[in-house]
Amino acid sequence: MKPLGPIPSGYGANTEGRLLIGGHDVTALIEAAGDTPLFVYDLGMVARRVERLRAAMPAGLEIHYAVKANPFAPLVSAMAGIVDGFDVASDGELRRAIEAGMAAAHVSFAGPGKKARELEAAIRAGATINLESEHEADRALSIGEALGLTPRLAVRINPEFELRGSGMRMGGGAKPFGVDQERVAPLVRRLAEAGADYRGLHVFAGSQSLDGDAIIETQANSVALARQIDDRTGIRAPLVNLGGGFGIPYFAGDVALDVEAIGAALAGRIDGEAERYAIELGRWLVAEAGVYLARIVDRKVSHGKVFLVTDGGLHHQLAASGNFGTVVRRNYPVAVATKFGAEPGEEASVVGCLCTPLDRLADDAMLPRAEPGDIIAVFLAGAYGATASPTAFLGHPAPCEIAISAESAVILT
Ligand SMILES: *Cc1c(COP(=O)(O)O)cnc(C)c1O
Repeated sequence: MKPLGPIPSGYGANTEGRLLIGGHDVTALIEAAGDTPLFVYDLGMVARRVERLRAAMPAGLEIHYAVKANPFAPLVSAMAGIVDGFDVASDGELRRAIEAGMAAAHVSFAGPGKKARELEAAIRAGATINLESEHEADRALSIGEALGLTPRLAVRINPEFELRGSGMRMGGGAKPFGVDQERVAPLVRRLAEAGADYRGLHVFAGSQSLDGDAIIETQANSVALARQIDDRTGIRAPLVNLGGGFGIPYFAGDVALDVEAIGAALAGRIDGEAERYAIELGRWLVAEAGVYLARIVDRKVSHGKVFLVTDGGLHHQLAASGNFGTVVRRNYPVAVATKFGAEPGEEASVVGCLCTPLDRLADDAMLPRAEPGDIIAVFLAGAYGATASPTAFLGHPAPCEIAISAESAVILT
């Protein structure tokens, strides 16, 4: 038997024992959406997450959403009304951010390898480009000149420090991201001399950290580094984006972050000037609000082991299958959604419909006995799900996605 990850709070069962998402019976949601596999995002839960973060963080601190975590249009639109800015990583995301109603002045565009077309789109829209290299700075400046527009430019720093305990490290040592910290001040001076609209500094040192002390330390280092660069250039960065890296508990034994403690520590460091700082989060804001639903198509026994074969799989849920940045495969929180109230009755493995042994959604898990027709729920599907998976693999159709709100309206794509 292998343990399952922790089901996030806020999910329960109705009297028929079926999983409720935002108060809706899963079978009704599937009927409304038309079919499985299906992603359901609870916008009410997203809003409560933002509220909790805002209450925890210093007053005035900007909260940005990293669109790549979940670019589903109705979710991005809902976010536009409750956060202070978006971080995008392609011109496609930039378009989506603006269509969702976020003012371009509050959109920043980070990421290596921005194409000329993308730099042009950002400059035309008036979004901030977080520069990843000196060469990118030259390109943005000359595109701005050719367009007769003043580009809004910030510099992403590749800091000497990194976010300890982070699932994906994106700072410290040789990296494709950002400008090495000792070269940032000369670049900022050059931007100012070239007449760019200098928007500030950006540090993003890692992702999926559950170590609150490490996040506090990284934020402190980032604040100190930004002040150092201000001193060296004599130019005050208008906005310092401290990045994020806030993780969520995916696996058995993981403990949720104490964001209130992180906020209290940050308040102590940026007292009186919180307005010039931002944090940008993806996963922490949206992962728990998403559930992936797949239907059991077959139940088979092989060498004494039970396999529940679903119509979903790694083509929609690469991360849950254990093939997205993990070394040792562990189970996400998974449940039989149509028997959510029932006690576990057998050990079973949940697999997908792809012809590869990598396509597993739960290994040797204790679950209520399930039959073909029952629905499997994979939790923590609100971030890095559909769009972070190889949806074209094997030629299955794209999954359905719906967002639900407290007003009980079902919003389709
Ligand atoms: C991916 C990314 C994020 C979001 O990371 P999460 O782990 O989802 O919070 C934020 N900022 C930048 C620059 C990113 O690349």
